[in-house]
Amino acid sequence: MKPSILVINCGSSSLKFALLDIQTQQATFSGIAEKLGQTDACITFKFSGRKEQQQLGQGDHATAVYALIQQLQTLSLLDSIKAIGHRVVHGGEHFKQSALIDDYVIAEIEKCAKLAPLHNPAHLLGIRTALQAFPTLPQVAVFDTSFHQSMPAHAYLYAVPLALYREHGVRRYGFHGTSYRYIAPEAARLLGKPLAETAMVCAHLGNGASVSAILGGHSMDTSMGLTPLEGLVMGTRSGDVDPGLFNYLATTLKLDVQGVTDLLNQQSGLLGLSELSNDCRELEDAALAGNEAAQLALQIFSYRLAKYIAALVVPLGRLDVLVFTGGIGENSSYLRAAVVGQLGFLGLALDNAANERCIRGQAGLIQQSGSLPILVINTDEERMIALDTAALAGLNV
Ligand code: ADP
Repeated sequence: MKPSILVINCGSSSLKFALLDIQTQQATFSGIAEKLGQTDACITFKFSGRKEQQQLGQGDHATAVYALIQQLQTLSLLDSIKAIGHRVVHGGEHFKQSALIDDYVIAEIEKCAKLAPLHNPAHLLGIRTALQAFPTLPQVAVFDTSFHQSMPAHAYLYAVPLALYREHGVRRYGFHGTSYRYIAPEAARLLGKPLAETAMVCAHLGNGASVSAILGGHSMDTSMGLTPLEGLVMGTRSGDVDPGLFNYLATTLKLDVQGVTDLLNQQSGLLGLSELSNDCRELEDAALAGNEAAQLALQIFSYRLAKYIAALVVPLGRLDVLVFTGGIGENSSYLRAAVVGQLGFLGLALDNAANERCIRGQAGLIQQSGSLPILVINTDEERMIALDTAALAGLNV
């Protein structure tokens, strides 16, 4: 039996999991429990090229963990687990790297919950259930924010009274750090340059989307802020808006602060603009079929992204490579072309055939000759979490 790491990623109503072989860091078993707490809660397992689904009644996160254990037992995989890694969205300023979970770490994650009220309580639920189910295994928390702790104060402070930072932690934290931590050395390796000498702008474009300036492997600035709402246009999130919009919508629509926050998080972005879908693939199909709202939504997405990429060259002082990752970055040749088409002044230009080729898992360089390098890389957050977990648990990789 091959020793493995179980990676758990808890959302408010979902629980994603993957079992990774410690030596190869490949997932041998994975899946997701969805709609937890609702009558149609279910769990899907993927292994050996097969998919199996089970209904969970009105099951919660604990029900999902016990269904997972049952399945691992049936497949004789349970005893292969040597440690568990948990994804945690917000580690505040406290966590500059991943941490072995104990009572103190749990208390600190709890303190960060007010900065990520949708995410951290769900992670804590997952952590507590896993500690109960696997009391003897080492468990590790890996934070989306920790990679960005290298940002300098002039990049992370908002121009609001400084006391708000000192007393309430109001600052920019940044997210998707686990993905950037995986992507940055990969990009340097593919370029054949030492990471310490590479200046890169990386765009992680999924349902949530952000872009980061990474110098010598360290985050210098990023588009997300106190919460994952700031910055780019996303699937259902608005990204940057005038903060004055809060008062305007509160008075014109008689919404409270939570109502406006929900509108900006859940009804905006590509979905709000297209009035069709938050799914980039669907919007591309609609745009190519002539749907003008879908075309405009994608244009706004790519324009905002191009502006951010150009802005994030400032903290680098130069650009060695532009990297695309995440579901959209890895697959949408349409959006990559739209973005790079606006960045010719930075010395970036695509090779159309290479751009079309790099989809569905195919990574590589997509620039034309004479252009600065542009890379598509498939991110692997689970692998990064498994590597951190193995290291902190003292397991040999
Ligand atoms: P999450 O942030 O939930 O992890 P992903 O990284 O899986 O999201 O990215 C999801 C996004 O990737 C969706 O908008 C989806 O439409 C987009 N996407 C996936 N495949 C393609 C494709 N072939 N072409 C365009 N967009 C795609």
